Amino acid sequence: MTCTEFLAQMTDYFDGQVEPELLSEIKSHLCECHHCEVLVDTTRQTIRVYRNHEVYDLTEDVRERAVQRILAACTGRKSVSASGQR
Ligand SMILES: [Zn+2]
Repeated sequence: MTCTEFLAQMTDYFDGQVEPELLSEIKSHLCECHHCEVLVDTTRQTIRVYRNHEVYDLTEDVRERAVQRILAACTGRKSVSASGQR
């Protein structure tokens, strides 16, 4: 198995959706290939963090400030790029 072949199967691998035969190919590739091993490790950790992360509602105040900041940033950028066009 090549790295490209592994990458094509990676999502299924994480979902546990690969055939046993393919799974053993993947495992032997991961033993040989440090690059893919690191990739799998990093992705696993990302998934773990994502799953453990609790979703919580922003308070009205925080949301309002966030919106204002985003709008200010967008407006600021726009006025820079459109300077002298008024
Ligand atoms: Zn690889």
